[in-house]
Amino acid sequence: MKSASPFFRRLIALKWISRQAGFRRWVLWILLLALVVGMLGTLVWLSGRYEASQIQQRLERDAAEAVTDIRTGFTRNIQSMQALQSSEPGTATWRVMANDLLRENREIMRIEWRDEDLGMTAFADTPYRAPVFERLGRGSTQSDVTLACSTSKRLSGAAYSASYFMPQSDGLGFEMLDMCMPIMVAGRLEGYAVATYSLQDVLAELVNKQLARSESLAFTEADGTRLALHGTTSRGSRVFIAQQLLDLPGNTLVLRLESRRGTPDYFPNVLTALVTAMSVALMAVLFLLARDMRRRLKVEHDLGEALAFRKAMEDSVLTGLRARDLSGRITYVNPAFCQMVGIEAKDLLHQSFPSPYWPPELAETYLQRQAIRLAGNNLPREGHESVFIRPDGTRFPVLIMEAPLINAVGKHTGWMSAILDVSEQRRVEEVSRASQERLQATARLAMMGEMASLLSHELNQPLAAISSYATGSLNLLKDQSSHELAAQSHGRKPGEAAQLAEPANELSSDLQVAMNRIAEQAERAGKVIKSVHDFVRRRDQAREAVQPRALLDAVMPLVSLQARKLSVNVVIDVDPSCGPVLCDRTMVEQVLLNLSRNGMQAMADSPSAGRHAADRVLTLRVRPAAFNERSRWVEFAVIDQGEGISPDVATQLFTPFFTTKVEGMGLGLSLCRTVIEQHGGFLGFEPGQPRGTIFTFTLPEAAPAARQGLSA
Ligand code: ADP
Repeated sequence: MKSASPFFRRLIALKWISRQAGFRRWVLWILLLALVVGMLGTLVWLSGRYEASQIQQRLERDAAEAVTDIRTGFTRNIQSMQALQSSEPGTATWRVMANDLLRENREIMRIEWRDEDLGMTAFADTPYRAPVFERLGRGSTQSDVTLACSTSKRLSGAAYSASYFMPQSDGLGFEMLDMCMPIMVAGRLEGYAVATYSLQDVLAELVNKQLARSESLAFTEADGTRLALHGTTSRGSRVFIAQQLLDLPGNTLVLRLESRRGTPDYFPNVLTALVTAMSVALMAVLFLLARDMRRRLKVEHDLGEALAFRKAMEDSVLTGLRARDLSGRITYVNPAFCQMVGIEAKDLLHQSFPSPYWPPELAETYLQRQAIRLAGNNLPREGHESVFIRPDGTRFPVLIMEAPLINAVGKHTGWMSAILDVSEQRRVEEVSRASQERLQATARLAMMGEMASLLSHELNQPLAAISSYATGSLNLLKDQSSHELAAQSHGRKPGEAAQLAEPANELSSDLQVAMNRIAEQAERAGKVIKSVHDFVRRRDQAREAVQPRALLDAVMPLVSLQARKLSVNVVIDVDPSCGPVLCDRTMVEQVLLNLSRNGMQAMADSPSAGRHAADRVLTLRVRPAAFNERSRWVEFAVIDQGEGISPDVATQLFTPFFTTKVEGMGLGLSLCRTVIEQHGGFLGFEPGQPRGTIFTFTLPEAAPAARQGLSA
């Protein structure tokens, strides 16, 4: 829990950071969108304005041109009028010429020839209309004409009157303007030529016809009152207006050009349309970009998760991981590797050969191995063993498994190694090997002990016989020498007897010495054998309380080793109600080992037992045995599925040195029985069902007091 809390804290911090980043990203997106929309709006608005200004400019230009056109027309008409008068015609000729002039210039309604007092000499009306003064008469406008003519006289050139409205006989009417021009002959005023213009026709005739198609032209007064209108007034919400002054001698008119644009006018011109289209495209791209971004974010998130998972895995795994590039430089190490070699990652990365964790004396060998690997001769997949060194000088064995690193495009970029610290494994192996050796040594010792015990038992009797025979012989010798002494004293001559007795005495005393020696040596041999026997029996003292399961576990490594060799399946069945037993642990282990080995060999030798491990089962069973009030017993059984024991074998089974095996000693079972009997137990056997043999032995359960010092 302690180690988990910083992890969760980091997770919460990461989430907070990612939420912050997400919020910032959203703000940025909204800002970008607002900017783009704002920019596009401005662009459209600007392009609209630009277009409007273009239209306005064109209108201004058109107005200026129209004014120029009108001025040119007026000037040309003045010239025509001068030409009319210059030939000093008679009134009839004048009329003809005036009519011609009127036919050519539709804007002129009437031409008059007046004398210097403005009296009418002659006049001609336009052929295109009814005479304009027909309804009200010319007199109604006399003041205007007078004013214009006096101005013209003063200016010595054409002058124009103020405009006036002239109702017509058809009920309509139009705005008119008079132009008065003095007729000078040899510097003397001879009269006046007056031309009456219809303002509407001036607009229609003198201004470029093209203009009237799209725009409306009007003459207005300075205050805006419209005097005459020409051209189409197209419908539209946007009105563009251009005004130009038509400054004439004696009168000033305002020419007003009006242009209307249709409503609604979203795409007034190509530019705006283009900008709008581009804006739409931009928005679409933005949308696609946002979608792409969202997908990327998702992928990024998934990738981040996968990366975090991989990192957590790499960090928590106990196997050291190390990556190298093709030139052998370290490109990656995980924390387990750093911990294993006791060097920090930053000191390992980018290191080449010799690596800092190579023992100096092995560096040469390792270099050669790396050279082989880099040359492309791949090392075996099952790995190879090496020895690494820590900075403190401790060496430890490792198992290295290497695999080529292939990148996303299938290119070989280096090597990935998984490194296992096998020191613990080696230690366990060493312990197991030592314990096996110990068990085997004990087995040999036990066997020796049993042999010595048997030998002492067997030799004791011949030795006792030798000893008693020697004693008997000594007694006989003693008797014989006493008889001879008696005979000597009862008949024979002392000298004769002494002659005969001397060699006999010598012999018997030598024999006595020899016999004494024999008796002594036999006794000594007996003592030696007894001491050996006592030594062997002294193990009785080494009793301890041991759990039955612990006894089985102790022999299991050796049993399973042989079981594997002989394809036997070992089953352990321990009744949990069994308490610890009081025994000489090593000797009982020996008994279990012997019985198990016999059982497995019986199955291996049996032709009727199956070939497979499933058919060859050796059961090691422990259960409580029958008990009385004073003591409880535990029964151990070793059950095989071999051929069983034939009656003639059964009779000699426990006889020392009886064996049916080529390399057998025939001591195993007798040793077992001795050991069990020494414990006060009983070793026996019975045929198994449906085949095989069940060897059972009993051991006393430890008294509760002895259980205190229970050894597992
Ligand atoms: P060894 O194993 O050296 O022969 P033992 O005293 O252990 O000596 O066994 C004596 C003989 O008893 C064996 O040679 C074998 O014929 C027989 N024997 C022992 N255990 C079994 C068994 N479980 N099944 C069949 N025969 C057995």
